[in-house]
Amino acid sequence: MRYCKNCILPSTRPGLKIGSDGVCNACKTNSESLINEIDWGEREKEFIKAVNSVSSNSNWDCVLPVSGGKDSTWALLKVLEYGLKPLCVTWKTAKRNNLGEQNLQNLISLGADHIDFSVNPKAERAFTRDAFVRSGIPLIPMHLAIYNLPIRIATQFNIPLVVYGENSAIEYGGEKKYHTQELTKEWLLRFGVNDGTTAQDWISSEISEKDLLPYTTPDTSKFCPKAIFLSTFFQWSVFKTKEIAMQNGLQVPDIAKSGTHSFSDIDEEFLVTIHHWLKWYKFGFTRKWDNLSLEIRANKISRDKAIQYLVNNPEEVPINEIKDFCHYIEISENQFFEYSEKFRNRDIWMKSNLGKWIIKEPLHPKILN
Ligand SMILES: [Zn+2]
Repeated sequence: MRYCKNCILPSTRPGLKIGSDGVCNACKTNSESLINEIDWGEREKEFIKAVNSVSSNSNWDCVLPVSGGKDSTWALLKVLEYGLKPLCVTWKTAKRNNLGEQNLQNLISLGADHIDFSVNPKAERAFTRDAFVRSGIPLIPMHLAIYNLPIRIATQFNIPLVVYGENSAIEYGGEKKYHTQELTKEWLLRFGVNDGTTAQDWISSEISEKDLLPYTTPDTSKFCPKAIFLSTFFQWSVFKTKEIAMQNGLQVPDIAKSGTHSFSDIDEEFLVTIHHWLKWYKFGFTRKWDNLSLEIRANKISRDKAIQYLVNNPEEVPINEIKDFCHYIEISENQFFEYSEKFRNRDIWMKSNLGKWIIKEPLHPKILN
């Protein structure tokens, strides 16, 4: 297990590559000098060209997947700024909280038509449970839905363009060939956080092929909408989208729910927390490390201070969220911990003399478990 010497991300993070100079690909792609080298005026022209290259017979110019959070609020403002008429689409998370609802209503009030799509809760519950048990990724349903549902809506209404927010292969580390302006099937399999699966892989006695329709890529042989990442055309950072979204009515809590950013992952009760918590077992890092690494790259905190923060704020088992999650997918807490152990990566964890699991090669001697 190696750690980037610029940020704190470990080599176990999917897609992250640490070079012989000790610096990770996410730091290299997002270094200030490299971002300043980009001709953003030229990128803006490319955006206008991409938008103009598709002709619309539809009432809407693009589909915009939104949750109501900072990134989608920013994205809506951006497409409105360029005169597009979007149809916003939300995959409704099973446990949306009041703040999530409030922020979504705020986004719609900025001027958009909107579809709030709820999947059959019985199917989604069974899918979430299977995704957790089989892959340790309870958010596979969410990830498949947020990428595929907007394309389905676009094909249904003949809308030629789907505008996604960030290309996470750039933000969090991913091979250069995935730093694309367009979202491709190949990108989705690699960075869609779906364990390389498609909806068809999840058909079971409880979940039929029809149940899985909202998560399935539609047939695009007759009409294929273009899918692009807005973050590849306009300078983008979580700090920037937060600032602009808050100026436009986004409300954020005082305390972070997962990680260190109180303005991220705020719209639902427990699924996202469980998703990030399981990274600890699988990869030996958590959401805090992602958030702090973004801050290091944005020169908001030094690497030493970030490490000190982790030492002073050891990982705590999110017991309330685990209880809620178990209640939701109908398993016992004991079962939750048994399944979680199955995903503990023995290459990076070992048992201490006292029989406790500890990280073999910690970032700091005091960050062990
Ligand atoms: Zn790095």
